[in-house]
Amino acid sequence: MNSCLLCETPIAEKPSWKALLALEQQTEICQDCSKKFQRADIKEEEPFLDRLTSLYRYNEAMREYLHQFKFLQDVALASVFANELRTLLKGNATIVPIPMHPEKKIQRTFSHVDELLKSAGIPFTHLLEKTGTDVMGEKSKAERLAMAPLFTVKAGATIRLGTYIVIDDIYTTGTTLHHAATVLKEAGATRVEAVTLIRAER
Ligand SMILES: [Zn+2]
Repeated sequence: MNSCLLCETPIAEKPSWKALLALEQQTEICQDCSKKFQRADIKEEEPFLDRLTSLYRYNEAMREYLHQFKFLQDVALASVFANELRTLLKGNATIVPIPMHPEKKIQRTFSHVDELLKSAGIPFTHLLEKTGTDVMGEKSKAERLAMAPLFTVKAGATIRLGTYIVIDDIYTTGTTLHHAATVLKEAGATRVEAVTLIRAER
């Protein structure tokens, strides 16, 4: 019997034809834990993104989840939202994770955005690279958007006409996604969308 990845309560497995055919992973968290996450289902257009979709709100349950996943490095938790991400991201768009600062990746041992995608079985391509510019606090929105680009297109990578979907864990001010989308569009992408697991309120 499996137990819930978050609270360790045993989960009764319900055999379904989808599970038998391995189309769907077994549930990784219990009903009680699952109810604590608050759906956001935000779909909107931003001036710089052709579409932005965020799945959940940043509530207490999500704060705890992120802490355990990112900071306590519980990589198994990548699978909690795998089925939803798989459903949302099926299609022909090129999936581009927001890259992590290389030093942070060493500290955290894994890139959490990559792990979310891997766990969902979604192929992705790293096309962006951090420039070393960092978002500092105390900046106004206009200042954050006008500063030197946070990303460049990776050396040797080719951006073709077509749709690109940038993936990040959390949408807060939009600065990161704005910079990523701008770089991809300037390099030739026709359409740039974004999907984030979480939408934080400003
Ligand atoms: Zn649970």
